[in-house]
Amino acid sequence: MLAGILTLAGAALVTGASPSPAPRDPWPGDSVTVRGEHSVVIGHRVPPSRLADLAARADRARRTVLEVWGPVRAVVLFPADDAEAAALAGAAPAAVAGLAALADAGRVIVLPSGYARLSGTGRDVVLAHELTHVATGATRGGRVPVWLSEGFADYVGYRDAGIATATAAAELAAEVRAGRLPARLPGPADFAAGAPRRAQAYEEAWLACRYVAQRYGERALVRLYGSDVGGVPGLSPAEFTAGWRDHLRRELG
Ligand SMILES: [Zn+2]
Repeated sequence: MLAGILTLAGAALVTGASPSPAPRDPWPGDSVTVRGEHSVVIGHRVPPSRLADLAARADRARRTVLEVWGPVRAVVLFPADDAEAAALAGAAPAAVAGLAALADAGRVIVLPSGYARLSGTGRDVVLAHELTHVATGATRGGRVPVWLSEGFADYVGYRDAGIATATAAAELAAEVRAGRLPARLPGPADFAAGAPRRAQAYEEAWLACRYVAQRYGERALVRLYGSDVGGVPGLSPAEFTAGWRDHLRRELG
C-alpha cells in the first residue's frame, strides 16, 4: 500500500504561504468538530471515531513538522466524499483523483477514498507532507522549485515513518536496479497529474532532499528551502546532480 504513496499527496493545489486562519466550518449545522491536542478536525458525515483518529495523527504530524521546520496550524477537513473535497478545493474532481489529501491556504483537505486506501503509516506520511506544505507555503508562488517543495514535504513525511527507502521509492528503485538513473532533477511537468513517471518524480525529489540532509545536515536542507535559491551553496547544479545520482545508486541500486 505504500508504493506510490508519494503520488497521493496533493501538490498542485497548494496556493502559497498562509497565515493560520480561524477554523471555518464549511458545513455549519451538519458537521462534527474534534479537537486534538493541537489540531482541529472538522468532518462532514464522518463518524467521530474516525475524526478522533485523524486528529491524533495530525497532532503527531504537526510535531514532526515543528521539529524540522517550525510551528504549523491548520484545520483538517474530512468531507463526506471526494466530490465534496474537490469542491472545497475549488478543483475539478478529475484534478484530485487518486489523491489522499491536499493542502491549500491554512487547510488540509482529506480525500476520503484515497485516504481510506492508505495504511496507518501512509496516513501519517501524507498528513505530515501536507502540513509541511501549509507550514512552508509550498512553492511560495513559484519561488521554490517544485522538486524542492515536494521533496521537502516528503522528507518530513517519511522522516520518522520507519519505512525502508527502497519500499517508499519502489518505482524509482526498480528503474535504478535495471540500470536506469535519472539524468536531471524532475521539473514541474514531471509532477503533473497524468505524468508517466509521476511517482518516480516524487521519489527523486524526496531523495534529493534526503541527500542534502544526510550529507550537509537537516539544517542545511531547511536553509536551502528558505533561501528561494534551489541550489546548494558551494555546489554547481552539475555537481549537485552528480552527488544526488550517486546517492540514488547507493540507496536503491
Ligand atoms: Zn505535495
